[in-house]
Amino acid sequence: MSICYLNGDYLNIEEAKISPLDRGFIFGDSIYEVIACYDKKPFKLSPHIERLLKNLESIKINLELTELNLSDIINQVIHENNSKNQVIYLQISRGPEKIRDHTPQDYPTPTIFVSSFPMKVLPKKEIEPIEVIMQDDFRWRKSSIKATSLLASIMYKIEAKEKNVSEVILHEKGLITEGSVSNVFCVKNKVIKTPSLEANILPGITRETLIDIIKKSSYELIETDISIEELLASDEVWISNTTKGVVPVSKIDNQAIVNRQQEEIFNEILELFMTEIQADKNQ
Ligand code: PMP
Repeated sequence: MSICYLNGDYLNIEEAKISPLDRGFIFGDSIYEVIACYDKKPFKLSPHIERLLKNLESIKINLELTELNLSDIINQVIHENNSKNQVIYLQISRGPEKIRDHTPQDYPTPTIFVSSFPMKVLPKKEIEPIEVIMQDDFRWRKSSIKATSLLASIMYKIEAKEKNVSEVILHEKGLITEGSVSNVFCVKNKVIKTPSLEANILPGITRETLIDIIKKSSYELIETDISIEELLASDEVWISNTTKGVVPVSKIDNQAIVNRQQEEIFNEILELFMTEIQADKNQ
């Protein structure tokens, strides 16, 4: 049984109900966050809440929510659930209305939902590399907003499942943008690159954490354009997100990463990422 928060109440998730006229359901008029929680402590909570508040502002949902309110709710949900390591899913929609109309009413009451699921896999050494495919990026132009209208990502994931791979790396006009649910890093001659935020991507919190870690390490990190050819000729390719941490890629479109040296740099950065999780827990 899992306990969630819905509009002021903490309740069993099976008892949580929202209106079918909620704009989140009807239009995907809502935003979300996914936060990793290790040993009952949310990882990088402030940047997640900051991103959420920025997204609320972008889509003009007016809510008197502060970082403090939200972190109290998140911590309470974590406390109410048993698992030590959880994935917190938080969604805020513009709320329910009486009739379906694209134009929002002046003051609908937003729906706030926070839930918890046990974390399936923890970041650990000797992570199994994944296989991916590449696809044209046909998503909208505002991928920096963490919107729940995720039809494109779902279409990519169906394709990935049919091809028996784990993720789809997207490209636009010959340049890599990001994964369908992740950010992308590559390494060539010990230089680490990731597409810049100008590339119509989500500013991933794991991406940001990795960038900070790499900048403090002996490696060079460049946020820049990465062409399809450059990605395919990389020594290492990684993807990153909250639920999986950072994961190495072994094959793209069934083609092995040619110079892959047993993820030499990946392993060093993973170690630093795991240290960062410990440090964040002790803060
Ligand atoms: N890009 C996309 C499109 C995503 O869906 C995600 C995960 N939600 C990410 C990047 C990674 O973001 P984060 O590290 O904040 O989980």
